Amino acid sequence: FDDRDGVIWFNGELVPWRDANVHILTHALHYGSSVFEGQRAYRGEIFKLREHSQRLIDSGKMLGFENTYSVEEIDQAAIDVVKANGLVDAYVRPVAWRGSEMMGVATKGTKIHLAVAAWEWPSYFGEEARLKGLRLEIAKWKRPSAETEPVHAKAAGLYMIASLCKDAATEHGYDDALMLDYRGQVAEATGANIFFLKDGVLHTPKPDCFLDGITRRTVIDLARQRGIEVIERAIMPEEMAGFEQAFLTGTAAEVTPLCEIGEYNFVVGDVCKTLMKDYDDLVNRR
Ligand code: PMP
Repeated sequence: FDDRDGVIWFNGELVPWRDANVHILTHALHYGSSVFEGQRAYRGEIFKLREHSQRLIDSGKMLGFENTYSVEEIDQAAIDVVKANGLVDAYVRPVAWRGSEMMGVATKGTKIHLAVAAWEWPSYFGEEARLKGLRLEIAKWKRPSAETEPVHAKAAGLYMIASLCKDAATEHGYDDALMLDYRGQVAEATGANIFFLKDGVLHTPKPDCFLDGITRRTVIDLARQRGIEVIERAIMPEEMAGFEQAFLTGTAAEVTPLCEIGEYNFVVGDVCKTLMKDYDDLVNRR
């Protein structure tokens, strides 16, 4: 992914893609001291840009980062990098990390660096999966408690188990994994939140040990605007036997239906299709 044309916003400058490098002794590489964002531009405009920039700052604060850039500067960096690469529909990836100013578990003496990249990334799961629904494996790793890690930070370190779960799922022929939490409750997929439908009501886990996604909150609003009741609560995996529809939400995933999670099956139904369309209309400002 590093050998391509384009520019990346790197500590305040637009540098050629191939030159946007860090040193081997970067603190973040050794100790996971990095936070990131993922946002999408639709028809040239980044959806909920301010919320993503603010979340990057908030994630950094949870890791003790001093605030090097303001929310306005991060917004502007994202806007500039989309434009400089001539992109219209794009995925945008801001990342902030501790650099190579010193080595050790302690962080004193490191500086916070910021980069923003952007590229074309049409559909996270592919069109066929979006029509038929994805198949999820129930992962063997569990989301940790809020006492174990700063679970609400979009921090690189928390993605180690997500990558392990995603790889295991695809090796076993699935599209993605559903992660349970430390209590055994349904949590989320490896990079997206989850919703279920039963008797016309949406049920989604309370985000008390994972990311309360910006798409998740958007879809809750869209559902309520349609008069659909949404309940945030603890969901045990066995309850999935009684759910009729299920879908994922996320910036990359958007609204993507599920047809199978482990032994449980779902239909790609009306509510799921309506919310896919409502989300698509909203992000494309129709
Ligand atoms: N959970 C995880 C683990 C994620 O990586 C993401 C994507 N950022 C989400 C949920 C969904 O968050 P959002 O809707 O803000 O993209």
